Amino acid sequence: KPVILWFRKDLRLDDNQALNAAHVSARPIIALYINEPRAAGTGPLGAAQAWWLHHSLDALGKSLRSRQGRLVLVSGEALDVLRAVIRESGADAVFWNRRYDPSGLSIDVRIEHELEKQEIQTRSFGGELLHEPSRLMSGKGAPYRVYAPFWRALERAGEPGPPLDAPASLRLESRLPTSERLESWKLLPAKPDWAKEFADVWMPGEQGAQVRLGTFIEDALNGYKENRDYPAKPATSMLSPHLAFGEISPARIWDATRGLAERVPRADIVHFRKEIAWREFSYHLLFHFPKLASENWNGRFDGFEWHNSGEDFEAWRRGKTGYPIVDAGMRQLWRHGWMHNRVRMIVASFLVKDLMIDWRSGEAWFRDTLVDADPANNAAGWQWVAGSGADASPFFRIFNPVLQGETFDPEGDYVRTYVPELRALEAKYIHRPFEAPKRVLEEAGIVLGETYPKPIVDHAGARNRALAAYKAISNGG
Ligand code: FAD
Repeated sequence: KPVILWFRKDLRLDDNQALNAAHVSARPIIALYINEPRAAGTGPLGAAQAWWLHHSLDALGKSLRSRQGRLVLVSGEALDVLRAVIRESGADAVFWNRRYDPSGLSIDVRIEHELEKQEIQTRSFGGELLHEPSRLMSGKGAPYRVYAPFWRALERAGEPGPPLDAPASLRLESRLPTSERLESWKLLPAKPDWAKEFADVWMPGEQGAQVRLGTFIEDALNGYKENRDYPAKPATSMLSPHLAFGEISPARIWDATRGLAERVPRADIVHFRKEIAWREFSYHLLFHFPKLASENWNGRFDGFEWHNSGEDFEAWRRGKTGYPIVDAGMRQLWRHGWMHNRVRMIVASFLVKDLMIDWRSGEAWFRDTLVDADPANNAAGWQWVAGSGADASPFFRIFNPVLQGETFDPEGDYVRTYVPELRALEAKYIHRPFEAPKRVLEEAGIVLGETYPKPIVDHAGARNRALAAYKAISNGG
């Protein structure tokens, strides 16, 4: 009898434990993807990720076709769909790789329970993380809340097992249940096509992930620790959307950083692995504390007096705050569905502290616009910046957007790429156009308030306002 291989956020054939188990079982495989009404995570799939999903499913379908198979696409509640496919195909087992976000987990637990009542075998596998969150616990058996000891525990746990290669051939079921057409899911943007520049940067699918990994190891891992904070440099892996869709496994990435000691300094390798471990830590937090994605981890922030101005939020979303590094980041996000990590920290700090807008508004905007939107990393990243999270950056550490820009984009190359109206401005003023002499602005063809906005807040004043609001909750608590 056939086995259903239920693909979710693991859209790959390489290092796919569920696929491997189905393969070695020697039963014919039905490869299924279900378009669930509420995607796993904190809410429906954002628009940028819908674009990605379309192309990723297309790529997975093609690689299955090259192995004489096909990807079956069905929309609906997962349990209903699985039951229907079981009825139609006579399958008596369902295999999948585990997901760890609260909504995905609760769906899976129920499915397991219901299918077992029907005597359908269910088997779930790891691989989306390096270690199961239920296993990496402190000596007292409690989950870690602080990154440094988590990292030490991860090191102690030893190297993850070697990744599994994709099976060379697959025995795919030839009599397949009815599939919907990918186009009918309408995942791509209708007019206007705001995602038209995404394809300049991204190649969704596991082949794209492997190319990205290879290029990064070859060109950028050497020097990663030093260069990763400079958004104008192609210094980070840009693997995040591939990881978010499971087009590559963290074990495969980890494995690719082995055996490089001859040509890559150890500090670079360790630093890169530590970033992979931040992802692991975020998942660990989300698994043990599902409220991470929607509530302040530190309840004291529940009393914070947010300003929540709709006008300010709109200026932030559109990249029109008058602070060039913030605007460049927000426009990179809109244009390419991604933003450099340093700039994510700057724009998030600006939203939460300078504009005093609730981090959850920023988290939701990121969820809709990032191709790598991830229920664990996004929530953990926002709470880290807001100061409300586990092991967070303290609230009173408020980024100065001008100094951050000058430190990490000293020539203004990043700003010039995404804020073309400032392109001709000299480096000295690129992060502070509002202080440039009239003559300098004129020469650069800039009219503040017309061609480029004046700052929507004064940073020094905004900083004091934020600190006063923080003091109010600190005294009260
Ligand atoms: P690299 O530097 O090449 O790192 C490799 C991998 O390590 C990344 O792909 C990612 O999986 C992981 N990683 C790196 N930095 C972090 C980090 N700070 N926290 C957790 N994991 C990390 N990352 C997401 O994947 N999805 C999100 O939705 C997301 N939202 C964020 C929101 C805010 C406010 C902040 C401050 C950070 C957020 N991050 C998020 C973390 C980080 O910015 C991205 O993972 C990183 O920029 C991705 O680029 P890269 O793949 O080139 O990273």
